Amino acid sequence: MRGIVWFRRDLRLNDQPALTEACNECDEVIPLFVFDEPLLQSHVFSPACVNFMLGCLQELTTSLAGLGFQLQWRRGEPDEEVVQAAREWKADVVYWNRDYEPAAIDRDRKIQQALMTRGVAVHTFKDHVVFEAEEIRGSTGAPLQRYSAYRARWWTKWHATTPPLLPSPVRQRNQQGGTSSPRIALPTVEDLGYQTVPLSINPGEKESQRRLRWFLDGPVHCYVKGRNLPAIDGTSKLSPQFRFGTLSVRTAVHAALGTFAAGSRVSRRDVLTWIDELIWREFFQQILSAFPQVASSPFRSKDGLPRSRPSGAERNRLYAAWCEGQTGYPLVDAGMRQLNQTGWMHNRVRMVVASFLIKDLRIDWQSGERYFMQRLIDGDLAANNGNWQWASSTGTDSMPGYRIFNPMLQSRKFDPDGTYIRQYVPELAAVPTHRIHAPHMMTQEEQALAGCRLGTDYPLPIVDHRQAREEYLGLGKLQGTR
Ligand SMILES: Cc1cc2nc3c(=O)[nH]c(=O)nc-3n(C[C@H](O)[C@H](O)[C@H](O)COP(=O)(O)OP(=O)(O)OC[C@H]3O[C@@H](n4cnc5c(N)ncnc54)[C@H](O)[C@@H]3O)c2cc1C
Repeated sequence: MRGIVWFRRDLRLNDQPALTEACNECDEVIPLFVFDEPLLQSHVFSPACVNFMLGCLQELTTSLAGLGFQLQWRRGEPDEEVVQAAREWKADVVYWNRDYEPAAIDRDRKIQQALMTRGVAVHTFKDHVVFEAEEIRGSTGAPLQRYSAYRARWWTKWHATTPPLLPSPVRQRNQQGGTSSPRIALPTVEDLGYQTVPLSINPGEKESQRRLRWFLDGPVHCYVKGRNLPAIDGTSKLSPQFRFGTLSVRTAVHAALGTFAAGSRVSRRDVLTWIDELIWREFFQQILSAFPQVASSPFRSKDGLPRSRPSGAERNRLYAAWCEGQTGYPLVDAGMRQLNQTGWMHNRVRMVVASFLIKDLRIDWQSGERYFMQRLIDGDLAANNGNWQWASSTGTDSMPGYRIFNPMLQSRKFDPDGTYIRQYVPELAAVPTHRIHAPHMMTQEEQALAGCRLGTDYPLPIVDHRQAREEYLGLGKLQGTR
């Protein structure tokens, strides 16, 4: 039997259900990747994300070659390319791991139908999450909309099933691994219409395993505190690896739980808090899969929330200042510049910049969501949309509408000596610590000493936070504590 393994968000060999199953069942296995031309041309992804994906594919090509398999790639519409590949290579079966984005579900359904009409079998697998949406339901059978309830069920299910890890795939004796087509080098980033950019996170399965080990040997043990401090390397930075599936989430959960057996340094609370983040990831995946309309509209009605600022020059000016990290609020500016320079932003700062855009500047959250997707190395529809809806108080389990982060207080609390700010906003490097969170309070003399003239070297605040907050609350009909 000849099988194609269609790689998508699962660019790895280990704990890879589609690949393992194909290796078990087929005499000949052909690994395939399709560069989705319309998607790439739509530029919904960032250059960092595309560079990262190609890096993962390069490593995958080598790892597959080590097993004796030759990765084939095609460019075009996946609907046509997969069906055509199956016809050209006379495949009996196509294997893939499931994707839960609404457009991907539609695409996969069409491809499955087309293949089956041509007599080609399709085998699909759960991979991207530990539990799919249908596996974690409330007592009525409906999808859960509260994270705390979802988390409780998730753990019950984990303890009941303890999802096993698959052994690494082994090429069987006499198993063929590829087509007779000559091996063609992967396209370059430029071929795909993007620019080569330096990557702040190294791509690939080996790197994701190394980083996981490094994280679980150290930073995870003070994660509860460390995860909020953008100046330190206190989080796993595995998000792009999960996005492209160079690491399976099951492997991550097993490895994290495995630290409990390893010795006395382990802090249960810290490790479990990290796993909670993986559960947030699944929570948003199941929300997207159960309520696909969130991809293009708010989950809840915006009743009570103020309207966004109307389009026009003022809105554009404020939006541009936010994008460029020129708002006059150092933590917001550091975050946006980190995003623009590296493609990644610390989670605490993502929450602050999102709140600032939506509530201080009153700009629609969809503009922020889009901007993030076009810049993030880990841009992922479910996580990005879920978090933007959380910040805008329109999501399933959101921040209350009346809650508005104060960017200066957040900065004092989480970057107390301004190390993070100084790294990404160098014009503030010499500003004394007691002024770094609100440099607009500097006197003329302080500005001269710090070599930073306000309004020239660094902007004055584009809005007054206290006034913006009052306006936001006044314009809406928000219930709750103010
Ligand atoms: C406005 C906004 C937009 C975001 N957009 C994305 C996005 O496009 N892609 C993305 O992967 N994450 C997104 N996040 C979530 C979070 O910021 C990143 O997952 C996290 O910063 C990645 O760093 P890490 O891998 O070091 O995380 P860790 O702290 O090590 O967490 C481990 C993993 O858990 C998952 N995770 C952590 N926090 C969240 C969360 N809040 N929601 C969902 N999953 C989470 C990620 O897969 C992460 O790799 C967004 C958050 C906000 C506030």
